[in-house]
Amino acid sequence: MSSKVTDQKSVLVDLTKCVGCGSCTVACKLWNAQSFQNPQTNEYENAHGVDVQLDSNTWTTVEHKKVNKDGQEVWRFVKRQCMHCLEPACSSVCFAHAFHQTEQGAVQYDPSVCVGCRYCMIACPFDIPKYEWEKVLPSVMKCQFCSSKLEDGEAPACASVCPTDALMFGNRDELLAKAHEIINNDSRYLNHVYGEKEVGGTSWLYISDVDFGELGFPTNLPEKSIPENVHGFTRFTIPIFAVGAAAWTGVSLYAKRRHAVAHEGHHAEEHHEEA
Ligand code: SF4
Ligand code: SF4
Ligand code: SF4
Repeated sequence: MSSKVTDQKSVLVDLTKCVGCGSCTVACKLWNAQSFQNPQTNEYENAHGVDVQLDSNTWTTVEHKKVNKDGQEVWRFVKRQCMHCLEPACSSVCFAHAFHQTEQGAVQYDPSVCVGCRYCMIACPFDIPKYEWEKVLPSVMKCQFCSSKLEDGEAPACASVCPTDALMFGNRDELLAKAHEIINNDSRYLNHVYGEKEVGGTSWLYISDVDFGELGFPTNLPEKSIPENVHGFTRFTIPIFAVGAAAWTGVSLYAKRRHAVAHEGHHAEEHHEEA
């Protein structure tokens, strides 16, 4: 954990309690004054009942997962946002120092110093930072853990509205103890607090009665923090920045175009079937 973090806060997400109401996603948009229209291709996803993805204007989503549990199909709902890693990979690769941790452990991003290299997007093990493709002078965007609320001792906007207490806010050590107590007293739960150890630990923690891999969580992450592994790499970031940024821009534009073409294909197939 960074030495600047003196009052580490966390949210414990109990995936057995989430009913997929989406109140947390609305609260996030209202608190962060974001548009309710997604800037990229999510109109297609919305219209066809496919989960909305994180993007520069959508810092949290709730994915609907139909999974097999004890031979039966069941639904689970998984809130996604920045995990606020205790040792954030995004920050460790950013030579512009656009990320910093607050006393409460929120990993904050400062667009005023970002140079747009997007190394943070590559480094993040949870695929969280998103680029403002729609803007002329784009920045990277992600959940900021409602850091001003945390500084005032308040819960983040999303956690404060959850009607089922699926999002529990508090001190990380206390929430970890609570998570293990819940697991020990209820045999439905897996004996795993996701985020306790992954990549050195995260501020957002999850407990579940369904395998985390089936719910879309990366399950092959090391317990060692990623910054420990990339310090050697970052020594070379400045010399290769120009080449890397240019190459990544090309790859990203290509991938975006492919995504758009795939959607056009879906539309065309559906029109064809309807006809
Ligand atoms: S989840 Fe990704 S963006 Fe969030 S703090 Fe960790 S490395 Fe950074
Ligand atoms: S912590 Fe704040 S910014 Fe992050 S998902 Fe929740 S409401 Fe949105
Ligand atoms: S507000 Fe709570 S119950 Fe509703 S989707 Fe979000 S986490 Fe799930």
